[in-house]
Amino acid sequence: MHRYRLPGRAYNPGMSSCLFCRIVSGDIPATRVYEDDLLVAFNDITPQAPMHVLIVPRAHVATLNDLGPEHDVVVGAMIRRAAAIAADHGFADGGFRTVFNCNAAAGQTVFHVHLHVLGGRTMTWPPG
Ligand code: 5GP
Ligand code: ZN
Repeated sequence: MHRYRLPGRAYNPGMSSCLFCRIVSGDIPATRVYEDDLLVAFNDITPQAPMHVLIVPRAHVATLNDLGPEHDVVVGAMIRRAAAIAADHGFADGGFRTVFNCNAAAGQTVFHVHLHVLGGRTMTWPPG
């Protein structure tokens, strides 16, 4: 049912058990770098680069496979916010990396959609 609700705070089925829902709600502390009505951005607890920010929708969505058209606005906002945060850190021209991991083979460990934003070192390709 939640696939057809607009993203927001009102309906959040994962709130009690999901780590990132608990960070969104403030139940678990994190160093926030940006937030608005749709999304929250905070520093990764185990940074893989000098800048390693996670951007999450406020509304619980487990994986990219669970996104529906109602999430297009928040996903677009997440990607544009990644570029803005990278620019704030001075990495717009030099470059930065964005990553969505989806499910086990990609290494997803927290099942609340999140966009990794990494910068401050040279990234290699292909990723591991
Ligand atoms: P994934 O592997 O699912 O793509 O990424 C999950 C990310 O969440 C990892 O980079 C991991 O370091 C980060 N993470 C896990 N637990 C916490 C936490 O409690 N706080 C914060 N800020 N990040 C976390
Ligand atoms: Zn969640």
